[in-house]
Amino acid sequence: MRSETLFLGTVITIDDSRPRAEALLVRDGRIAAVGDEAAVRTAVTAGTGLEVVDLGENALLPGFIEAHGHPSDTAVLLSRYMIDIRPVTIETGAEVMEAIRAGVAAHPEGAFFNGWDNLLQTGVPEPDIHSLDAIGGATPIVILHNSGHVVYFNSAAARASGVDKSTPDPAGSHWEHDDAGELTGKGFEVGTLFAMAGSALGAAAHEMPTLLTTYLSGLNAVGITTVSDMSWDAQKQPALDALRAAGGPSARLRLYEMSGPGKHASVPLQNGDASIRQVGVKTWADGSPWVGNILLSFPYLDTEGTRSIGVEPGSHGSANYTRDELDEVVERYFPEGWQLACHVHGDLAVDRVLDTWEALLERHPRADHRLRMEHVGAMTPTQFARAAALGVTVSILIDHVYYWGDVLVDELFGPEHGGPWANARAALDAGLRVSFHNDGTVTPAEPLCNMAVAMTRTTRSGRHLPGAEGVTIEQALRAQTLDAAWQLFSEHEVGSLEAGKFADLVVLSGDPTAVTAEELPGLAVVATYLAGEKVHGG
Ligand SMILES: [Zn+2]
Repeated sequence: MRSETLFLGTVITIDDSRPRAEALLVRDGRIAAVGDEAAVRTAVTAGTGLEVVDLGENALLPGFIEAHGHPSDTAVLLSRYMIDIRPVTIETGAEVMEAIRAGVAAHPEGAFFNGWDNLLQTGVPEPDIHSLDAIGGATPIVILHNSGHVVYFNSAAARASGVDKSTPDPAGSHWEHDDAGELTGKGFEVGTLFAMAGSALGAAAHEMPTLLTTYLSGLNAVGITTVSDMSWDAQKQPALDALRAAGGPSARLRLYEMSGPGKHASVPLQNGDASIRQVGVKTWADGSPWVGNILLSFPYLDTEGTRSIGVEPGSHGSANYTRDELDEVVERYFPEGWQLACHVHGDLAVDRVLDTWEALLERHPRADHRLRMEHVGAMTPTQFARAAALGVTVSILIDHVYYWGDVLVDELFGPEHGGPWANARAALDAGLRVSFHNDGTVTPAEPLCNMAVAMTRTTRSGRHLPGAEGVTIEQALRAQTLDAAWQLFSEHEVGSLEAGKFADLVVLSGDPTAVTAEELPGLAVVATYLAGEKVHGG
């Protein structure tokens, strides 16, 4: 005898045809009925065990969706293979340096750190090969920047990784050299990060299924039931095979394979299933505002902050790829039918990506392409309108406003360009479908906080950023549920509470539309269900 579950109370569906319901029935992992209590009760199968969940003050919603995550990398970065120095973990620069010295003492065989950000952990200079040699001596030191766009290393780490001053730049990445041509101990972008941190990542490979399971259960605890992996690599496939064999992951995975020179997708377009499947291909057009390598029409300010991150005052930043190189990348994947997702922050880089995609769509018209731009910090209202006309969609790292909002205005770009950073409202006003995300280790997975900051545009210090309006709670909810599902080509199976979709559900301790934006992050995630099975909560 199979059991069914009947939820009674406040049901927020994110389905425009019936935004609210009194009851929802789960059968065989799917939503069997949703609507008025009397109607839903008639759908209960006679003779089955029926579990009735009285929601009381709680509210039932679709499980949250992290449209831009990095679960396979984050699972390792947050494990014992890496020492955590993120700004959400350690407050000051002095404490970061203490943690680095302690890590080197504890790991003479090689010390790997994740989370450097001296814009937030102030008072310490950027590391370089000489300062890290002085700390590490013969011990390799590798420090990943919190943004994931820079790696710092010492001479011992370079030797251990087989990197020297004549090592060629990986595609879309580069090693920094001084005037004499020597390595400075700094590499930009994923190619250099993987070259330096590869041994730590490789050592963790055999533990990946366990590490992923732990990480995904953490996502379940904040209400997430689907997460994309934006730095997927087919080499990690055995970990997913192991997860499947063990009953499947506790959140649905939507994979975006990293593009590479001359590469083609490693799986056919039709692959996987509702639990795990590859939906797209990922490219990085530029880098991070916090390390100076985003391509801008306006200059970085001349401040203590910009000097502390090694950015020349007046710099307009840089991009990872020329227009020709972007053309080459998109031409290899898009005609095969893949969705493309492109990391882009600087407004000039946004123009470059839109130019590339406009020409691509002229060569290869496709009605429903859902081309995705990721993060879009400096994207302007005019550019959102152009994106809307092309059918492009955006996923926004809205927590930039909360954690770096003060830095954006005071240290990097001033109120005119820093104030409207990550302008979700402008994107929505232009007619775009929008999602919010936390981007792996970059900020903690916190969908309720994302929604709140998108509504208030208030920084961690309590300052309201100028130059952009907030979104409504209804828009915020869609950005963490249905529209995020749509970006992942998964709205037919998850993202709203409609009969036939999977019973991926979150129970919150209150109705998010009945509290203020300031109160929203205080709601508790009471329970999370994946296909009707409880994956979080008592
Ligand atoms: Zn990312």
